[in-house]
Amino acid sequence: MSEIKVTVVPVAKLDVDELESALGRVAKVVRRPVELRGAIELPRGTEDTTRAQHRAGTLLKALRKGLPRLKVVGHVGGEGRPVPEPEPDATIFVTDVDLYTAKTDGAMTVFQRGSKSGIISIRRMREAFYRRKADPNRQRARLAKEILRVVGTLGGLPVCSDPTCVQSETKALADIDRKDERWCATCWKRLSSGAFRL
Ligand SMILES: [Zn+2]
Repeated sequence: MSEIKVTVVPVAKLDVDELESALGRVAKVVRRPVELRGAIELPRGTEDTTRAQHRAGTLLKALRKGLPRLKVVGHVGGEGRPVPEPEPDATIFVTDVDLYTAKTDGAMTVFQRGSKSGIISIRRMREAFYRRKADPNRQRARLAKEILRVVGTLGGLPVCSDPTCVQSETKALADIDRKDERWCATCWKRLSSGAFRL
């Protein structure tokens, strides 16, 4: 079975306990520790100040440039001992700033297969965004599920038709909440056997 190497980078100010808690959940599912890098500063010039949002693709590209400078600060959860990983299967930036794309007014998760990287904004995963009472556990579950979806997508998995699988489509927050925090048996088999590895 091939192992899934996941690297996560917090962008600017982020609650580290909250992030690590979500990564612990991810590590359980991928059955391997998740590598955590030091925080990266928000680059200048990627914000559209009129809408107070960042263009996701531009931001992701700018962040990737800074990646080689970022030290590994730890490994979260999982089984077995971590080994040095020069080539992660998925590098995921997690940010609190709001994102948008050419196709959407607001985006939670954007990925680029070619660079095996993605960016996830927790802004719209927070109940506070919808003026509802905070629900930290639910927010961590949402982040963990979206990280798993990015890992699966970058690993080559197609969108899954099982609505409880993390690899099923995420159009809205309710789609994430409906999912289990795992891949369905078919997706896991494909991913862990490397059948769809790019
Ligand atoms: Zn599936």
